[in-house]
Amino acid sequence: MGEDKRELPPIPDRLPTAVVDAHTHLDACGAVTAADVTAMVDRAERAGVARVVTVADDLASARWAVDASTWDERVFAAVAVHPTRTKEFSDADKSEVERLASAERVVAVGETGLDYYWDYSPHDAQQDAFRWHIDLAKRLGKTLMIHDRDAHEDVLRILDEEGAPDTVVFHCFSGDEHIARRCLDKGYVLSFAGTVTFKNARGLHEAARLAPAGRYLAETDAPFLTPHPFRGRPNEPYCTAYTVRHLAALRGEAVHEVAQAVRTTAERVYQLPSVTTG
Ligand SMILES: [Zn+2]
Ligand SMILES: [Zn+2]
Repeated sequence: MGEDKRELPPIPDRLPTAVVDAHTHLDACGAVTAADVTAMVDRAERAGVARVVTVADDLASARWAVDASTWDERVFAAVAVHPTRTKEFSDADKSEVERLASAERVVAVGETGLDYYWDYSPHDAQQDAFRWHIDLAKRLGKTLMIHDRDAHEDVLRILDEEGAPDTVVFHCFSGDEHIARRCLDKGYVLSFAGTVTFKNARGLHEAARLAPAGRYLAETDAPFLTPHPFRGRPNEPYCTAYTVRHLAALRGEAVHEVAQAVRTTAERVYQLPSVTTG
């Protein structure tokens, strides 16, 4: 068997209960047309990942994500300017984000927050943009989807200062059990990506055990962060099924219990229509 690092991982067995990929980037996975989107979500559905939230990180991506959400009923969108791209964030850009985020099938304002790892945009520009997106989420009555990389303290502080929206999701939660506890105390929801399956991620494993049902989600953040044992290979929404099974093992719970929790939490957090099939 060839172990080509560029090859997608195999599609895993279908989960016993359908789940939602709470955060993915279908465009960055290579989808361009409606047919591409449908093919990708068909693959996801074969693994029991029946719906996805595709996330934009700039304006071109946001326009695409909003379109994609109208092409396939299993696709929803989230819109914001990514913290690494906030160096120049004009009033015209803000109006455009606001217009796109108002679309019916946009279920969250995000990803927004702070990224002190890449440092592509100055911290003060990132913080200003984060404050603006928090306010937008509150005005639109939509969930706030946080990107927090090496910036836990400032993210939590700014949420406190601005007043958090009703629903806040920490996408690709990257803190340890102490940060998880502080987020849970505030009522925030933790979304676990493939990183939670990595063997050396002990703090993250503890965080995943700590979050009660109703307060955690599963996501791919595809095409990045492919779950173990396929780390380094491309990622797609169907790989959420690997992460759900890892979460079940970490928590010592049945796969169907975790899948059910992930699905009902996503339906609540993103106000998705609840579906009876799958
Ligand atoms: Zn992110
Ligand atoms: Zn992302």
